[in-house]
Amino acid sequence: NVRVRFAPSPTGPLHIGGVRTALFNYLFAKKHNGVFVLRIEDTDQNRYVEGAEKYIKDALDWCTIPFDEGPDKDGGFGPYRQSERKHLYKQYADQLIHSGHAYYAFDTTTDLEKHRKEYEASGKTFIYNWHNREKLSNSLSLSSKEVNSKINSGEPYVIRFKAPKDETLHFFDEIRGDIQIDTNTLDDKILFKSDGMPTYHLANVVDDHLMEITHVIRGEEWLPSLALHILLYRCLGWDSPKFAHLPLILKPVGKGKLSKRDGDKMGFPVFPLQWKDPKTNEISSGYREDGYLPEAVINMLAFLGWNPGTKQELFLLEELIKEFDLKRVNKAGAKFDPEKTKWFQQQHLQRTDSSFLAKQFTAILSEKNISTQADIETIIDVIKERAIFIGDLWDLSHFFFIAPNEYDPKAVKKAWKEDTPTLMHELIRILNDITIFSKENVSNSVKGWITGKEISFGKIMMPLRIALVGSLQGPDLFLIASVIGKRETIQRIENIIE
Ligand code: GLU
Repeated sequence: NVRVRFAPSPTGPLHIGGVRTALFNYLFAKKHNGVFVLRIEDTDQNRYVEGAEKYIKDALDWCTIPFDEGPDKDGGFGPYRQSERKHLYKQYADQLIHSGHAYYAFDTTTDLEKHRKEYEASGKTFIYNWHNREKLSNSLSLSSKEVNSKINSGEPYVIRFKAPKDETLHFFDEIRGDIQIDTNTLDDKILFKSDGMPTYHLANVVDDHLMEITHVIRGEEWLPSLALHILLYRCLGWDSPKFAHLPLILKPVGKGKLSKRDGDKMGFPVFPLQWKDPKTNEISSGYREDGYLPEAVINMLAFLGWNPGTKQELFLLEELIKEFDLKRVNKAGAKFDPEKTKWFQQQHLQRTDSSFLAKQFTAILSEKNISTQADIETIIDVIKERAIFIGDLWDLSHFFFIAPNEYDPKAVKKAWKEDTPTLMHELIRILNDITIFSKENVSNSVKGWITGKEISFGKIMMPLRIALVGSLQGPDLFLIASVIGKRETIQRIENIIE
């Protein structure tokens, strides 16, 4: 039975890289009828940021990838915040000490720095493992009497993992295949601190075990920790889950990881939702507030490191669940492309129900204090192909609701001729005679009249468009006339010829 987890630390807003990790976990879980767990890794109280957990949950909600188990949604494996699981970890650190796989260390930061400097003076890099253990202050170099007296007198300590000497570890990553690590390169990582808190490594392994996680799917930045995690499972006598490390998300131009700065520079968000930093009050933009649809964001994220192996690019969540496969996730970093993101947005907007868009758009209209009898869905149908964001709908349709307050001078220069006012007066009479002011009726009357006069269509249609729209843009003019109605159509023509 597949169980996966997304295990963010609440140190700030979730970067889209984090959302990508959550999405791949979600897709994998749903594909295998498994369970998607949210676990909040808040052991490092110094880095805790107010509001971050709520942000994480809201972001998953907005992206429509809800967790099955997590904080306030118990599935029998809770609690799901590590700070609430504090009492669980010490026994495992003790177990490792008893079995000889971990030890107490008392070095102060200053001692360690001093030692490091001395060591590095000889041109070698300092590693806290068998290379140096003996020379440092820990339960492997001190007598048990000394160790006990230090602990009893309340001297701060940490519990370090004892990385094995001269071993080659072999393990498997679902995306990267076989991996080998020489244990001599491993640091004796800290597992537990005397303040009673485990570090990430211990808490993460213990929780994945206790929560019966079957697959750990996470970002590539955790690959260097994998050897330690594999060793911890081994030393605790547990089977390890399967591992899959997702490729980095790279900046659109240049080299390296995508960062918030790239987004600021190029004008795209790197967060799913807007975030207001509680300390600085600085606001970072989010995809939701920028008018993106969750469908577009998810589709874009799915392609950051995965592809279906076909030409199909547009996917809804349900289809992604069907197609998703860890075997089709790349090792190489995935370049983030803001233009492609806009393309996904534009494509998904086209596929969105007009009735849904109409609802959103009606809210925008009421914000602008516009009341209208017009059929919003019809308007949306004719303008949406040129829209990328919901916010574009207003720019593409304002003339359906309010008369132009200025006229594009270039358009006027092109369309306005000496006889235009006379022709417009005549046009008003034609329009006046139409009893049912439908698009077809207006079209038939006006076209019939133009044809009878043997003048070009442009001579009438261009000035009429300027009168109704303010420029030479916009959808079918007869539709616009029928939506705004006979009175308003005539009024707008009178406005411009006066
Ligand atoms: N708390 C870690 C993070 O913030 C989790 C890493 C993992 O998934 O093991 O990314």
